[in-house]
Amino acid sequence: MTQAWKHGTAATPLAGHRVVIVEDDRTMAMVAESICRKLGARATVVCADGAAVAETLAAPGEATDIVLLDMMLGAGDGIAALRGLDATRMTAEIIPVSASDPRVLDAAVRLLAGRGFRVHPPIAKPLTADKLARALDAGPHQGTLGHAAEGQPSAERLASAIAADEIVPWFQPQRSARTGRIVAVEVLARWADIDRGLLTPAWFIPGLEQSGLIAPMTERLLDAAAASLARMGAATLPLGVSINLSAPTLADPELPERLEAVISAHGLAPRHVTFEITESAVLANTLLLLEGTARLRLHGFGLAIDDFGTGWSSLDQLRTLPFTELKIDRSFVSGAPDDAARRVILASTVTMAHGLGLSVVAEGVETEAERALLASLGVDLLQGWLTGRPCDADALAALLDSEALPAAAMLPATREDMLR
Ligand code: C2E
Ligand code: CA
Ligand code: CA
Repeated sequence: MTQAWKHGTAATPLAGHRVVIVEDDRTMAMVAESICRKLGARATVVCADGAAVAETLAAPGEATDIVLLDMMLGAGDGIAALRGLDATRMTAEIIPVSASDPRVLDAAVRLLAGRGFRVHPPIAKPLTADKLARALDAGPHQGTLGHAAEGQPSAERLASAIAADEIVPWFQPQRSARTGRIVAVEVLARWADIDRGLLTPAWFIPGLEQSGLIAPMTERLLDAAAASLARMGAATLPLGVSINLSAPTLADPELPERLEAVISAHGLAPRHVTFEITESAVLANTLLLLEGTARLRLHGFGLAIDDFGTGWSSLDQLRTLPFTELKIDRSFVSGAPDDAARRVILASTVTMAHGLGLSVVAEGVETEAERALLASLGVDLLQGWLTGRPCDADALAALLDSEALPAAAMLPATREDMLR
């Protein structure tokens, strides 16, 4: 499965880029320079302290694309080195590099992102070409000011995009941790905009939620996803379908009937479909939330608590709502093999979920070490770059074909059967 990751990564992700390397150790700086050149960097500049960083980044002339930032400098730290800079006017993206405790690094990343810097996932020293390529590939921390500030689409534009079926389903495979087989897919929305290309959900889901268009979008998306899966014969395979459902959508009393009608038109039954309740907009009325989730379960749909461990998805929701599946947020998965605190949280979450009768999906699985750890902890399903990137229907069909599920595979009665 490591191959999938390798295929998805360009050999020279730094091609044409100017990189500023902030590093006080001269040997490490030289190593970093040669790694950057290997990955295609056009130019590298080494800064040994905060003053040099400020000067280099503020200097007129050549723009910097990437800053490799050592978080512990001899006479200061990486956060102090960026103090005098105006993040909103800086085009460069930052990749922190450090030998510190991962939790300290995490806090530093959140702090920098909170100040508006575009920060990639941190790299644990020693720096290697592989680690740098992966950090570049992951992209900067979502939710930075720069992205949010870019003009959001209007409600009219969103409505026309839904009507014209410009919002299309992409699919990310979920694999059994035990067998490695694809047993389900998560449907992820993409907006194929004629002028801007393919847009990610961070750009249009908030607008859809605010304008009340999220429910009609979800129904169209489920319809299109079910149609694609039916076309590729996935209904006859043991393949589950998960789709995100914004919590406020649950307040609609006719929702379960409409969703059931949408999927049955394509020969799918509710037991094949799991709704992942996302936290982005909280439904304040807990009674409506309980009613909405309970009714979806009564209709036979699966129900997942998404991004477990962050914000909304609390132990209280787990206790009171009828979930069938728990999705561990990727912030606990990423880096867990080298982080005792994350491992403890993962292990106890799996025990708790299984104790409550829920299946467990781990998100954001990117490395073989993470896969092995999660499998050893008893996680049921794995989802991440390692097990498969989100892709369109044609690519999914090709992937399923290439992994040729045995013809003898029978339609599972429930998602639990699928996991056996
Ligand atoms: P999510 O439900 O947690 O979806 C997983 C996100 O993580 C996806 O981003 C996916 O591309 C990304 N991802 C998967 N594996 C990895 C990995 O190994 N490493 C990393 N770094 N990322 C990984 P995407 O597609 O941009 O979706 C972002 C969020 O947008 C989703 O998070 C979900 O909350 C929301 N969303 C997407 N589609 C819909 C939708 O149809 N309805 C609603 N309400 N929300 C949606
Ligand atoms: Ca999800
Ligand atoms: Ca999630």
